[in-house]
Amino acid sequence: MSLKISIAHLYPKLLNLYGDRGNVITLIKRCEWRCIEVEFEEINTGDSIKDHDLYFIGGGQDKQQIEVAGELYLQKNNLTDQRDKGAVFLGICGGYQLMGHYYRPFDAEQLNGISLLDAYTVAGKKRFIGNVTAVTDFLEPRTLVGFENHSGLTYLQGETKPLATVTTGNGNNGQDKTEGGRYKNVFGTYLHGSLLPKNPHFADYLIELALEKRYNDKITLDKLDDALEYQTHNSLINKSY
Ligand code: GLN
Repeated sequence: MSLKISIAHLYPKLLNLYGDRGNVITLIKRCEWRCIEVEFEEINTGDSIKDHDLYFIGGGQDKQQIEVAGELYLQKNNLTDQRDKGAVFLGICGGYQLMGHYYRPFDAEQLNGISLLDAYTVAGKKRFIGNVTAVTDFLEPRTLVGFENHSGLTYLQGETKPLATVTTGNGNNGQDKTEGGRYKNVFGTYLHGSLLPKNPHFADYLIELALEKRYNDKITLDKLDDALEYQTHNSLINKSY
């Protein structure tokens, strides 16, 4: 059976800090290498957002987040419906912050988020910059590695659980050892890098969730030769500089 998934990249012209686009490239290539057809579209300011199996939103400075927040908020009900239908979301840093209830920058008005995650973010006094290693309870290998650069402090509540527990770096807020958040198939994280090229097991996990949503059936992906990806991943585990 030939498989297909549809992927939307939300506001790449504004939220693409540290080449977060690399996450979308990884998802597309890991599908193509398995002959899974990918329908892909970029959503920019003013575009309507259609039904997709997977939505990606990257990170950005406060200025870009302010520009995107208004647009994204107009799509809140639509994207909430998508979440509740099982669509997969991956938000990185600024995009992650806007998936919560609000982001209060240091010197700007509070930005409404779209509440896909039961979380909120307030600007901290210190900017967290550096490598991060965090341990999940659902991936194999357990680890995620990446790079953080944010002043926002994110706090999770309700049924939104951490994506992982920090072993190196700061993660959500530098206080509670949590990194990222997850609710249903919505995933947020502070890990730039970009994240997925160095964490192929997480990329495949997201692709399998997107296929399960589309075909209403659990589909296990064929393994790829990820020797180079894991050589990079392993070289970064608990490396703080
Ligand atoms: N502007 C936000 C912050 O500083 C997000 C930064 C980012 O996306 N790297 O917390």
